[in-house]
Amino acid sequence: MRKLLFALIAVVAASPFAHAAPGAVRCGKLLDVRSGRMLTDQLITFDSNGTITAVGPASSIALSGGTTPYDLSAATCLPGLIDVHTHLTGDPSSSGYQALGISIPREAIIGAKNARLTLRAGFTTVRNVGAEGYTDVALRDGINDGDVPGPRMLVSGPPLGITGGHCDNNLLPFEFHFKSDGVADGPWAARAKVRENIKYGVDLIKICASGGVLSKGDQPGTPQYTFEEMEAITEEAHKLGRRVAAHAHGTQSIKDAIQAGIDSIEHSSLIDDDGIAAAKKRGTYLVFDIYNDDFILQEGAKAGMLPESIEKEKKIGRLQRENFRKAWQAGAKIAFGTDSGVYPHGDNAKQFAKMVEWGMKPVDAIQAATVKAADLLGWADKVGAVETGHYADIIAVSGDPTSDVKVLESVKFVMKGGTIVRNEVSAR
Ligand SMILES: [Zn+2]
Repeated sequence: MRKLLFALIAVVAASPFAHAAPGAVRCGKLLDVRSGRMLTDQLITFDSNGTITAVGPASSIALSGGTTPYDLSAATCLPGLIDVHTHLTGDPSSSGYQALGISIPREAIIGAKNARLTLRAGFTTVRNVGAEGYTDVALRDGINDGDVPGPRMLVSGPPLGITGGHCDNNLLPFEFHFKSDGVADGPWAARAKVRENIKYGVDLIKICASGGVLSKGDQPGTPQYTFEEMEAITEEAHKLGRRVAAHAHGTQSIKDAIQAGIDSIEHSSLIDDDGIAAAKKRGTYLVFDIYNDDFILQEGAKAGMLPESIEKEKKIGRLQRENFRKAWQAGAKIAFGTDSGVYPHGDNAKQFAKMVEWGMKPVDAIQAATVKAADLLGWADKVGAVETGHYADIIAVSGDPTSDVKVLESVKFVMKGGTIVRNEVSAR
């Protein structure tokens, strides 16, 4: 009977139409991500809005009549993870020329598939930095309305970039007259594009400050947007209450973007000591996507990535990892972002082991994907910690992620806003 009841709960919970009810979760261990301390035998209660109402030792919290806590006493709980650099509406197989055959509506459907995979991997919040045709806006709204399962999303819409730059599309010759949605040259055109993206529902602005790896005919180290353009974009976005994320591999572009007041530097590959110092001084977050290098080199050619892209990755991958270590040791703020979509969605947690390999302690890497990521998003009071007033976004693993961060690659339990979306923890 008990087994049947759990099976029934699992079926109900798997439905995207399931609504949260007040409840509680009992965790054998709970990682306090703010202090890095591992707490034992904790009870977490939440209300019908899926908001946490109390957290503390199980013996200290009185449950209202009839509430049986969900039993995770054999597991270690953490807050739901956050990836601040995803592309849910794209897959690795839609790289290079293959991407040209994929319609905007099809991309939205791909996004629905990947949103579910990402959520089930324990990532209950993502910041999606770049999608054509506002597919990310539609996906975010569909998730919020309960139409499809997925993480909480902050979305950028089409990324802004210069004509012929990383955020344009250079695959077709002139006679097709094709350019990407976010292309805008000059401070005023860029300001107009910021306003247009906000008109159509974006939460933040993404720009391409320098060249990139997976684009045709440019170089990662070369500046694209000028300082003047980035300053205009940032002023316009901040005035309208939106933060700005800048794709920047190149040394000069990173410094220009920081100086222009941009909130996070994405990739950060060729950052130098001056750039690190500037990021520290301004409090700019650095995001280093140091897992996907392995995937690009091993699988990129099969996935349709251009030969020039593979060559660019060979040159930049190791430097990015070395600079990640340097920036971390120097005390820069780092948030967890992976560029999912370049590698398969749902593998996001594979980056934790890379961050540990390149200088972080497991708890540092976990903080980058929880409290620090939440701070970068402007959602520090909502996500990234299991605390009263936060969403009941809770995951559980077997084992101790502060000693073996790889356990985060096989998350056993996922709850988003008080609703269970994955459960492979056997009840005792
Ligand atoms: Zn990206």
